[in-house]
Amino acid sequence: MKLSRYYIPTLKEDPAEAEVVSHKLLMRAGMIRKLTSGIYNYLPLGLRSLNKVADIVREEMDNAGAMEVLMPSVQPADLWQETGRWDYYGKELLRFNDRHGRDYCLGPTHEEVITDLVRGEVRSYKQLPVNLYQVQTKFRDEIRPRFGLMRGREFIMKDAYSFDKDEAGAEESYWNMFEAYKKAFTRLGLRFKPVQADSGAIGGDFSHEFMVLADTGEDTIASCKACDFAANLEKARINKPEGGCAEAECPALEEIATPGKHTVEEVCEFLGVDPSALVKTLLFVVDGEPVAALVRGDRELNDAKLRNLIGGDEIDMADEALVRELTGAPVGFAGPQSLKKGVRIVADNELCLGTDWIAGGNKADTHVMHLSLGRDCEIEQYADLRVITESDPCPECNGEIEFTKGIEVGHVFKLGLKYSEKMNATFLDENGKEQFMVMGCYGIGISRIVASAIEQNHDENGAIFPPSIAPFEACLISLGGKDEAVNEKAEDLYAQLKSMGIDVCYDDRKERPGVKFADADLIGYPMQLVLGGKGLQNGIIEAKDRKTGERIELPLDNFAEAFTQWRDSIWQAWGLK
Ligand code: ATP
Ligand code: MG
Repeated sequence: MKLSRYYIPTLKEDPAEAEVVSHKLLMRAGMIRKLTSGIYNYLPLGLRSLNKVADIVREEMDNAGAMEVLMPSVQPADLWQETGRWDYYGKELLRFNDRHGRDYCLGPTHEEVITDLVRGEVRSYKQLPVNLYQVQTKFRDEIRPRFGLMRGREFIMKDAYSFDKDEAGAEESYWNMFEAYKKAFTRLGLRFKPVQADSGAIGGDFSHEFMVLADTGEDTIASCKACDFAANLEKARINKPEGGCAEAECPALEEIATPGKHTVEEVCEFLGVDPSALVKTLLFVVDGEPVAALVRGDRELNDAKLRNLIGGDEIDMADEALVRELTGAPVGFAGPQSLKKGVRIVADNELCLGTDWIAGGNKADTHVMHLSLGRDCEIEQYADLRVITESDPCPECNGEIEFTKGIEVGHVFKLGLKYSEKMNATFLDENGKEQFMVMGCYGIGISRIVASAIEQNHDENGAIFPPSIAPFEACLISLGGKDEAVNEKAEDLYAQLKSMGIDVCYDDRKERPGVKFADADLIGYPMQLVLGGKGLQNGIIEAKDRKTGERIELPLDNFAEAFTQWRDSIWQAWGLK
């Protein structure tokens, strides 16, 4: 492609609204343009990268035995009503009516449509397993679309869905996709990590997120420095502390006045104690029933762990009125002793170790001291309920835990019977008995990957694309100006590179060298080739590795071979090929 004829509207300045580097650079490099909040145009360069990402993902899906389909983005409400998600999904689901007043939505995901598609066709175990995928536009009316392609409202996703005849098959499909994801993300040139994620009601080790490691990531990963344990914060489990419950002597419960002291910080400051001396009592309503969850004062409750322990479909924090009803006090003074009868109490494992706690007094402006959980209240269960910290040991090997930031670019998830039961997706097994299909779903954020690649690879001059997903892997720059000999030679080299199958663009614009260099750096082609008058005289062309900045000279008389060698070394340095 000759850049003199190409549409690359670069910008000199960072757009004001862009907060993260990928958003800034995608805009400045003329790869995307915003249409409206969270909705973008892909310009020629941006689309080239996007298509390369999609093609690599397609190849790895095909290699893993999945088959490409294309489902509509407009979906009828009745399918969503079958699964109950029409009510449950909330405002992220964009709904509208057709001229007959029928309800529709723009697909944020396709479980309903794919299950409908497969249940209509698959009758026998002989037709299973099936794995179907698509690369398609999704719409989610995100509450806060931001960071450009990173969290859009309209975005491109690859979503795959597997259907198996039994659990064992579903697990095989799961790990098959897991491996395909590892191959795909490696070929995309990303530094990534699969991390355990919450699998909710399904349980087990059947949800992994694939994270691109980048400081600007929105997600926090807890990983072990010693072994390969890695989990997102929601999932990271904490082992039960050694030693059973402490039954140490504890003086009698005693009320203390804490006027106006609601928060843990206020109470601790007032009493001159450390937050770890407190028990925090958090009140919830689970499917209409009150539940109290206890964690140490310096700890954070992990909502997902609570949800998994208690079950139920809906968990909400108790509102002010309910807190009053359950504790007899305003918000800020709840304690596990003397709660209204019938409140289930669950406590974090760690609380089992201590005794003699401070807690809310279930009375306005009052706390209690010398609380012994075993003696003074009825704990239904001790369990792992809090968010892991960097000072907790690794749950696998006791090694040191560290937190890193990541961007979720993929998610593999075992669905089990969740959709097949609700939508009656069945088949006849070997014995002619009707069974539900066991499902899995597997997403990759195609457009988010383009942004993630830049978050991970850039410098002050611009983006640095991995060769496999760069808009062009190489840019040939002619510094010939009016020197036709140089321009002619550049034309020759361009033709030669193309005939070698190199994805090259040719900057033949009538611009100053400085402009061409700056644009090439900004757009982030991993390889730059620069031909000038002097070089031509000396029989060489300069080759620059965008990532390292290293420049070497390639001989023009043996160009094809020298270039191939150099190119191979660059792909290899990216961990590719
Ligand atoms: P997140 O927690 O970031 O909202 P999610 O859990 O909603 O992601 P999934 O439903 O698993 O995401 O979707 C599969 C993939 O689609 C994600 O791993 C992510 O890469 C991508 N994705 C999800 N939401 C967006 C979005 N708003 N913009 C761009 N990509 C997205
Ligand atoms: Mg989301």
